[in-house]
Amino acid sequence: MRRPEEELLELERAGLRRYLRRLESPQQPNIDLAGSGPCRNFSSNDYLGLANSEELRTIFAENILKYGAGSGASRLVCGTMKQHFSLEESLAELKRSEAALTFSSGFAAATSVIPALCGKGDVVILDKLCHASLIDGARLSGAKLRVWPHNDLEKLRTRIAWANRQISKNGRILIVTESIFSMDGDRAPLREIIEMKNLQGALLLLDEAHAFGVFGPQGRGLAAEMGLESEVDFQMGTFSKAAGLTGGYVCANRAFIDLLVNRARGFIYSTAPSPALAASIESALEMIAGEDGDRKRDTLWERIHLLDSDARSAIIPILMGENETALSASDTLLEKGFLVPAIRYPTVPRGSARLRVTLSAAHEEGDVLALKDALSDLQAHSEPTPPPHEP
Ligand SMILES: *Cc1c(COP(=O)(O)O)cnc(C)c1O
Repeated sequence: MRRPEEELLELERAGLRRYLRRLESPQQPNIDLAGSGPCRNFSSNDYLGLANSEELRTIFAENILKYGAGSGASRLVCGTMKQHFSLEESLAELKRSEAALTFSSGFAAATSVIPALCGKGDVVILDKLCHASLIDGARLSGAKLRVWPHNDLEKLRTRIAWANRQISKNGRILIVTESIFSMDGDRAPLREIIEMKNLQGALLLLDEAHAFGVFGPQGRGLAAEMGLESEVDFQMGTFSKAAGLTGGYVCANRAFIDLLVNRARGFIYSTAPSPALAASIESALEMIAGEDGDRKRDTLWERIHLLDSDARSAIIPILMGENETALSASDTLLEKGFLVPAIRYPTVPRGSARLRVTLSAAHEEGDVLALKDALSDLQAHSEPTPPPHEP
C-alpha cells in the first residue's frame, strides 16, 4: 500500500504541495501572518469588506444571543427554524425567483443540487473552467457528462445536440456554468447560452459565486445586470464571498425547490446552519441590496480600476505559466508584505499557474497603489514566461 509520505513528496517535487498558513488576525485587508508578520491581504473573496465589518459582527453576536448558536439537526428532522425560512423568502424576493433553498456552503449546494436534478438517462454539460464543486456534483449525479471548451458557444451547441440524442424519454439536459469565472475573472456569454438552451430544451444552472454582491442592480449578480434573471432555471451562489459569512444557495421555481428538499443529500443529511448565521446572512443581504451596498460596490470598482483599468471583475489573474514561477512570485510579494496567492493545478489547467489578486471595497487606495508598484517591479525583473505546454 502506498504511504502518504510518498504522495506528499511527489506533490512537493511537482511544485504542487499545499501548506496551511496560520493567520493571527481576523480576515481583513491588513492581516498578521504567522512567520511573515503584518501584510496586506489581496487573497480573500470578501469583496465588500463585510466579513469583519463592525456592523455584521455586532449583528451576528446579537443573533447568537437571540436565536441560539446551534441548530441541533437536519431541517427535515428537527423542524426548520423560522430564521431559515425568513432568509430563503428574502433571498428569493431579492433574486426575483419563486423560491430558494440554502445550504451550509456553496460547495454543498453544488454537490447536492446537481445530483438531485440529474441521474441516469440525463446529461450534464459543464464549461471546462467550472469550479471543482460543480464538477464533483456532476460526477456524483451518475448522469452522462460532457465538458465544453471555455466559453466556446459553437462547441456548446454540438454538446447539446449530442445530449438530445443521448437522453432517455423524459431525460433532462443541464447546462452548468459560472457567470464570473473564479480563477480568470472573465464572464460567460450568458445571453447566447440562454438562447441556445431555450431553443434546444435544456436547463441552465448558473453559479454566481463571484458575481453576487458585486454585479447588477442591488448586487443581484450578472444575470440581473443583463436582465436575464428570470431566464436562469437555477441561480446558484454562496454567502461566503461578498456576503462575508458562510453558506450556499440555489433559487428556482417552487416545484424544483420542493424537489430539492426531497432529494438534495447535502440538505437532507446535514445539520442546518446555525439560526444565528441564517439571520445574519439575511442582514448581510439587506446590506448588499441597500444604498450602503451601492456605495461599497462603487468603492470596489474604483479599487479594481486603480489596479487595472481594463479589469472586468474583482478577480485579476496574472499568468505565470510554471508552478515554480508562480510560487516564487508569490513569495517575493510576501517578502514585500503582500499576500497574493499562487494558483496551481488542479485549480487551474497545467501550465497556467498564476498569481490571483482579489480586490475588496475595504482596501485602501494606498494599498492598491503599493501592490501595483510591487507587481510592476515583479514583471520588470522576471523572465518572460514560456508558452504553456501540455505534458
Ligand atoms: C467559492 C465557490 C464555491 C463554493 O462556495 P463556498 O461557499 O466557499 O463553499 C462554488 N462555486 C464557485 C464558482 C466558487 O468560486
